[in-house]
Amino acid sequence: MAFEGLTERLQNAMKRLRGKGKVSESDLRDTMREIRLALLEADVNFDVVKDFVKTVRERAAGAKVLEGLNPAQQIVKIVDEELTKTMGETATPLNKSTKIPTIIMMVGLQGAGKTTTAGKLANRLKTEDKARPLMIAADVYRPAAIDQLVTVGKQIDVPVFEMGTDTDPVEIVRQGLAKAEEDHNDYVFIDTAGRLQIDEQLMDELARIKELAHPDEIMLVVDAMTGQNAVATAEGFNDKLDVTGVSLTKLDGDTRGGAALSIRAVTGKPIKFVGEGEKMSDLDVFHPDRMASRILGMGDMLSLIEKTQKEVDEKQAQELTEKMRENTFDFNDFLDQMEQIQKMGPMDQLVKMIPGMANNPALANASMDPKDMDHIKAAIYSMTEQERTDPDVLNPSRRRRIAAGSGRPIQEINRMIKQFNQMKKMMSQVSKGNFSGMEGLMNQ
Ligand code: GDP
Repeated sequence: MAFEGLTERLQNAMKRLRGKGKVSESDLRDTMREIRLALLEADVNFDVVKDFVKTVRERAAGAKVLEGLNPAQQIVKIVDEELTKTMGETATPLNKSTKIPTIIMMVGLQGAGKTTTAGKLANRLKTEDKARPLMIAADVYRPAAIDQLVTVGKQIDVPVFEMGTDTDPVEIVRQGLAKAEEDHNDYVFIDTAGRLQIDEQLMDELARIKELAHPDEIMLVVDAMTGQNAVATAEGFNDKLDVTGVSLTKLDGDTRGGAALSIRAVTGKPIKFVGEGEKMSDLDVFHPDRMASRILGMGDMLSLIEKTQKEVDEKQAQELTEKMRENTFDFNDFLDQMEQIQKMGPMDQLVKMIPGMANNPALANASMDPKDMDHIKAAIYSMTEQERTDPDVLNPSRRRRIAAGSGRPIQEINRMIKQFNQMKKMMSQVSKGNFSGMEGLMNQ
């Protein structure tokens, strides 16, 4: 199975943290060392590993313990999020042209899986989108390559344009595109030649095809089983052709996972699809988050973490509702909210969890500049406990002291206090079911 070794090693790395109420510096160091070794052994690119470990370590060291999560769970969460980020965060769809046909040029080394992937993609578009693709056979160096594409075409009932092996590939593509126009095909796949290694002649030919066809997608096909070679290949093709997407094949045979984890970070280009078998249906959209959970092999723990996180969020929203109702919201709560915002997302999201607020149009444009947030925090830090809990005592001389203490102009302090008072008023109104006047407040 894919990633077997990596999954096991990552799990072992984090095992030592289980059941611990607190993670010591040395526990963290040992865990990070294990994670680093696990990734290197999985053939992940060295620089990618270095950056990854650095970020995880910093986040783990800086993380406050979240209510409801033990330290091990917290680190699993961080590792999961960073794995997802390394692989590109969200799924990236196939590029699509605004006019037909959308042209997809398949490139890659010989044997990587270009022809197979072209067939799989065409098949997917045909069955899912009722598309009418055409495939052009532009690999004239291997007669078997043309036969193979024709066979695939028959299998999935997609037409193949071919002119044998005696015509220049650029000319084949030109005529193939004319044929697609004539037949109103909405997608065209150009199956190009590959070599065992990247060479100049091949790259020149591909560049000429690119120039003629102006493809919407230059899909680089790489074999996951070749690990770091796949990454080097991706870099090579990307340098010459500026590819737009990557399809990773043979993930079913890749027990290490290095290519999947490195390609995005090294080339900056998204992995869009993964092949996990030889059949025409063995193609999946690449979802970085799902892949990360799969690599960690901790599906259960991750959903538990997600659930706990949600419960904690809900509990906080509930507490906020209480405060609003009782009109006891003070600067300490405000500060808490600021910290929440910075830690887990904007306050508008938190407010949206309050019953009745989720679809309130007044919240549609609610947002806050992080810099403003830092200034407000600095001001609150300069307040005494009495000032925080009882903002009414904030007379001009106290305000001047706060301005000096936080290094912000007095006008800004006055404005902030005014906004706070308005917000408090708004909150108490909202809790009584009166939503008017919120929009102006949120956009101030
Ligand atoms: P091309 O030379 O780049 O066009 O590569 P092909 O499409 O001919 O593929 C080379 C070999 O890899 C063929 O035997 C394919 O069946 C096989 N192949 C392609 N994709 C996958 C995949 O995702 N998993 C597995 N197991 N084999 C694959």
